[in-house]
Amino acid sequence: MNNQRKVSYAAVLFLVTLTASADNRPLLETEQIFADFLDAYGAVETIDSGLVAEIEGQNRAVWQRRRDETRSALTTRLRDAGLKPLTPADSRIVSNMQRTFDELTDPGASMAPDRKCQDATRPEKDVEVLQMTLYACFDEVGNALKFEDKRITRSGALQQLQQIEEPARRKALFMAMSPLWQAVNGQNEPTSPYRRMIAMAATAFRHKPSPIDEAAQALNTDTPRLEGWLLELLEAWRLANQGTKPIEPWDYRHEHARASRALDASIPRDALATLNQRFFTDLGADPQALGVLFDIDPRPGKAPIAYSDTVRIGRQLNGKWRPAISRVSANYDRGGLYTLNELTHETGHAVHYIAIRARPALFWTDSLFIEAFADVPSWSVFEPSWQQKYLGRSVPRADGLRELYSLVMLDVAWGLFELRMLRAPTTDPNVLWTEITSRYLGVVPHPELSWWAVRAQLGSNPGYMINYAVGAMLTAEMRKRTRESIGAMDAGNTEWYPWTSEHLLKFGAELDTAELLKQFLGRPPSATALVDEIASIGRDSKGH
Ligand SMILES: [Zn+2]
Repeated sequence: MNNQRKVSYAAVLFLVTLTASADNRPLLETEQIFADFLDAYGAVETIDSGLVAEIEGQNRAVWQRRRDETRSALTTRLRDAGLKPLTPADSRIVSNMQRTFDELTDPGASMAPDRKCQDATRPEKDVEVLQMTLYACFDEVGNALKFEDKRITRSGALQQLQQIEEPARRKALFMAMSPLWQAVNGQNEPTSPYRRMIAMAATAFRHKPSPIDEAAQALNTDTPRLEGWLLELLEAWRLANQGTKPIEPWDYRHEHARASRALDASIPRDALATLNQRFFTDLGADPQALGVLFDIDPRPGKAPIAYSDTVRIGRQLNGKWRPAISRVSANYDRGGLYTLNELTHETGHAVHYIAIRARPALFWTDSLFIEAFADVPSWSVFEPSWQQKYLGRSVPRADGLRELYSLVMLDVAWGLFELRMLRAPTTDPNVLWTEITSRYLGVVPHPELSWWAVRAQLGSNPGYMINYAVGAMLTAEMRKRTRESIGAMDAGNTEWYPWTSEHLLKFGAELDTAELLKQFLGRPPSATALVDEIASIGRDSKGH
């Protein structure tokens, strides 16, 4: 569920026309080199992911040479461009290229883990090295957990927690994740890998924007406002569940997963790709026809998280639009609703990238919008009309929504957790996580367990969870507006992709997210749409 590297910082509010730098020749040339760099970068990453050995008939050595040449040219050109006086539009072009370039040339940019988890316990001065090391723990330790003498991946374990009926086995599976908690947060001592990392990250974010600053910027607001939204959402969940007994952390996922347990038998591992293909085709976004590449089987050394990226960007070449190619990477060893929801999310990213029609400098928009949009199609699998059409049976709407929002609430809780850790990095993370989850999610306190440490982004990209947390609120807004405009989409609607491309996706970063959403919704976004949905499960669930 992740596109953690493509964050471009939308600094100016308005649409930049394609002719903005028509008379700035050197800048246009720089932009072409930048586009070549993005293509070479995507090709090298795709080959390194292990999916293919060649892209467009060229092997890794060729693409690496192109990447290195364009990188060195850009280093000079972007620096020189920044020294000259520029029009506001050109200055935005330069700052967007610079930001994306910095992200991608950062040593931690690659999705393939290339560090050793055991080094996380060593003193380390470079926060990015420590972050890459923690990321490696999610591959080495997280993808090699042991439960009942079998190997299990982290995401497989989280999913099985929804399934297992016996409370003692659930607890045993939950505790089987402790090697990962320990790799990330030791015994929760102040010098644990995570606690050292978050303190260093907070210091670094005094000189550069954090993902939280970037999310606030994308919505043209500030961090207190983001925090206020997260609290509104958590409070809505607390109210919807008022009067229920506190639940143990190993029971949380099971408690809310009635939909998965009823439907998983209809979603075997082998059916994932077909169901995904059918749904997106019915949305007018046939992944096969669009050329999306899927790489979803587990493989050692592969990125330990699911993500979607471009093999090449979409761009104008020889007077014609050459479309982007996207790919989806994941490690699926089982089927089920949970997995299908994630695959739908990643495919949402893939078709998003292909719909972008922006100039290269403004191809990548902010992570907040990217994550929020990917859930517009992925939330459909929790709706009875989707289930009826694609599985031939369905669960009551409240059961599906309860499961969906119980997972969304974990994202919101992590978003709040990171926001507060970065604000006060000497905070005890276990105590903070316990406070948030016991107060809002009704979970029994276990401050002795670092059970929050199951998302790779927490270690590799601190602050990134805000994009899922606030993103959920935007997803609810976009889904509502879409329904009102083109009708239901949960069981397919071929108008969806063309309409969505036209109104949301084609702009890339040419339209700032705050402005885009204001145009799309007719007002700035708020938490109301999601709060209302959450409240509805409280009402609908009575009588279960
Ligand atoms: Zn994502």
